[in-house]
Amino acid sequence: MAEKLTAVKGMNDIAPPQSAHWEWLEDRLRSLMAGYGYRNLRTPIVEPTALFVRGLGEVTDIVEKEMYSFEDKLNGEHLTLRPENTAGVVRAAHEHTLLYDGPKRLYYMGPMFRHERPQRGRYRQFHQFGAEALGFAGPDVDAELIVMACDLWAALGLEGIALEINSLGQPVERLAHRQALIAYLEAHADQLDEEARRRLHSNPLRILDTKNPAMQDLVNAAPRLMDHLGAESLAHFDRLKSLLDAHGVAYRVNPRLVRGMDYYNLSVFEFVTTQLGSQGTVCAGGRYDGLFEQIGGKAAPAVGWALGIERILELLKEQGRLPEAPVPDVYAVVPDAAAMDRVMPVLRGLRQRGLKVQMHAAGAEGMGSMKSQFKKADGSGARTALIFGEQELAQGQVAVKPLRGERTEGGQQLVALGDLDALAGALRT
Ligand code: ATP
Ligand code: MG
Repeated sequence: MAEKLTAVKGMNDIAPPQSAHWEWLEDRLRSLMAGYGYRNLRTPIVEPTALFVRGLGEVTDIVEKEMYSFEDKLNGEHLTLRPENTAGVVRAAHEHTLLYDGPKRLYYMGPMFRHERPQRGRYRQFHQFGAEALGFAGPDVDAELIVMACDLWAALGLEGIALEINSLGQPVERLAHRQALIAYLEAHADQLDEEARRRLHSNPLRILDTKNPAMQDLVNAAPRLMDHLGAESLAHFDRLKSLLDAHGVAYRVNPRLVRGMDYYNLSVFEFVTTQLGSQGTVCAGGRYDGLFEQIGGKAAPAVGWALGIERILELLKEQGRLPEAPVPDVYAVVPDAAAMDRVMPVLRGLRQRGLKVQMHAAGAEGMGSMKSQFKKADGSGARTALIFGEQELAQGQVAVKPLRGERTEGGQQLVALGDLDALAGALRT
């Protein structure tokens, strides 16, 4: 092969030992969901492009420049690798009338695709875990989702994750604010950077989110959406805040918090940390009561969040909270490959009794010396080695050698192979 084949830029392989961290985090997330009654929904990675490019939606960064879209060579369909999964969840809920018998709490986990500049915490294939509550008008369920995320930080031992919340009100309120905002920005056109000028009419709200230091004074003095909210929107937001207070959850109201997706209304929120450089948002979400209708479904209120798995793992690493690599209970040392027909069924029997057993198998050079096998046994992290020597096997026995802890002092012992329950019991203690 002339050219070296590598993964696509910004898309990563996840190999051991890191993959164990992923599985560990996924397990934590699943049990969190079980505790709150959220159930798994799995949707395709490829969706019709029209799901993301909706006629009514504003032009967002994602739709404008980050989507992997292509035409199906065989039938000309316009398809897109999902850049996020809220729209997919809503599509599936509508398509299968999932809300026919009442609201649903759902979660998903999997890869998302955005054509961004790869850097720490920002990839082209990245992974999200998302929770979506469909058919609930809130704000109780908004609070539930936020508290659930706080529970996750606690379960993971993570610290220093700050919560910011805001209300985007309803579309009519946003429209009034949008007009006031455009008028204000137009009056200060000379202070706008190139990006802001481009967004002025497509997505002016997003200008408030600018990171450009030169524009901070301008956006700080801009008309605030909060001042355009009506009594109902304000009451919804106040209730959310009081529910968070009741949980002792700390938050900061950030009137400039807007979200990258066009479909949000009322509550929006982000969990941010200062420990991941400029990619500090680890979890973000909000209410999207208009999305069902936008994709042609029956109107239904909804709210959810998505967290970036890579960023959470990076933060766990930063805070020294990643788990130890998983280790086997037992490593089987097998001096002679010819013994395998006796050895392997024994090991299988031990696994059936709940033990994690790693077998020394032949490499390119055969089984290797006893010394090299013991080195492997040690390196595996197993607590115990089982040594299937020729002589022991001939007498229906195996040598049990503690590799770690106090028991190593006792040295190795011979144990009968006839009673696997007894052997498994001995290996467990
Ligand atoms: P950002 O402002 O960092 O671009 P976003 O607003 O585009 O984030 P969302 O669309 O809300 O992000 O996605 C939810 C979460 O998914 C983010 O908070 C982040 O943790 C993660 N995320 C988003 N884009 C990426 C990416 N390209 N690589 C890794 N994680 C990402
Ligand atoms: Mg983004």
